[in-house]
Amino acid sequence: MELVDSFGRVHRDLRIAITDRCNFRCQYCMPEEGMKWMPRDSILTFEEIERVARLLVDRYDVDSIRLTGGEPTVRANLPDLVARLAALEVDLAMTTNGATLRLVADDLKAAGLKRLNISLDSLDRDRFIELTRRDDLHRVLDGIDAALEAGFDPVKINCVLMNGINDDEIVDFAEYGRDKGVIVRFIEFMPLDADEVWGHDKVVPLQRVIDTVNAVHPIEAIQRTSAPATRYRYLDGRGEIGVIATVTEKFCDSCDRIRLTADGTFRNCLFAVQDDSLRDAMRAGATDDDLAAIIEGSVGRKWAGHGIDDVHFIRPKRNMSQIGG
Ligand code: SAM
Ligand code: SF4
Repeated sequence: MELVDSFGRVHRDLRIAITDRCNFRCQYCMPEEGMKWMPRDSILTFEEIERVARLLVDRYDVDSIRLTGGEPTVRANLPDLVARLAALEVDLAMTTNGATLRLVADDLKAAGLKRLNISLDSLDRDRFIELTRRDDLHRVLDGIDAALEAGFDPVKINCVLMNGINDDEIVDFAEYGRDKGVIVRFIEFMPLDADEVWGHDKVVPLQRVIDTVNAVHPIEAIQRTSAPATRYRYLDGRGEIGVIATVTEKFCDSCDRIRLTADGTFRNCLFAVQDDSLRDAMRAGATDDDLAAIIEGSVGRKWAGHGIDDVHFIRPKRNMSQIGG
């Protein structure tokens, strides 16, 4: 059976935020004063996460799972969770800030994690500190090396571009990717920042990224798939880049993504304003059919698009670290 919404989109890609906690406080994600973490008993256990994931895989043919957060590597015994989900035989990936990857990359690979995305928004130490409020650039760069040494392939770098903040580093990032053999994906800044500083003037549009890279290292477009990134390959064969243009060229028409937050709410979109609690249902003794009814109800209500440019656009109450990017 397929998980289809009222616009005919089939959902096979599950993102699971396994914690809301994080060792960074990135400017565009968390408030300056930090977050009040969710109480531990409100967070899904590994058994509960596995139960929801298994239901989605067995009943609706979900074939791709990405672990995110908060920062997924701060969750204790992470390789145990990875091994449980790897047993579902899905394309299993994780998004991390990379700061502790040197310590865990080998164990995650051995447990069955297939792909890694590492977030990095500046290659300049002072700017990195300003953006993340942590002096950890050297750890993240070493974490990227650790991921490559552990055999992850591909390793992707997620770089959120913000006008006037790091948009002068586009070529530096492209060259870092070419030199290291990693795929850099530039992400447009989205209105999910806790401090609510987002504005259209802060978004660096896809076309500008492409023109900037192309002027130095010529690129050509690669055929689009349902994946959110618009991809380009270097004409000299030295890899590719991607741009995730959520704001200027939204890809909602082909969105196949569903989400589970750390506290067990099911969300049909990054920008959804309604949460449906699978945790409360599970803890009240719900059967798999009961959970399936909640999931199908949520997907059935999914909007056509995120509506960032609509006058009626409502910012979700949760910021990115509580939804999982
Ligand atoms: N802590 C992990 C990390 O940073 O990779 C995983 C969670 S983080 C919320 C997931 C992704 O969301 C990161 O790549 C981050 O850069 C991105 N992100 C956070 N806030 C964003 C925003 N307002 N707009 C666009 N991307 C954002
Ligand atoms: Fe933490 Fe990731 Fe958000 Fe940065 S982007 S504060 S690393 S959750």
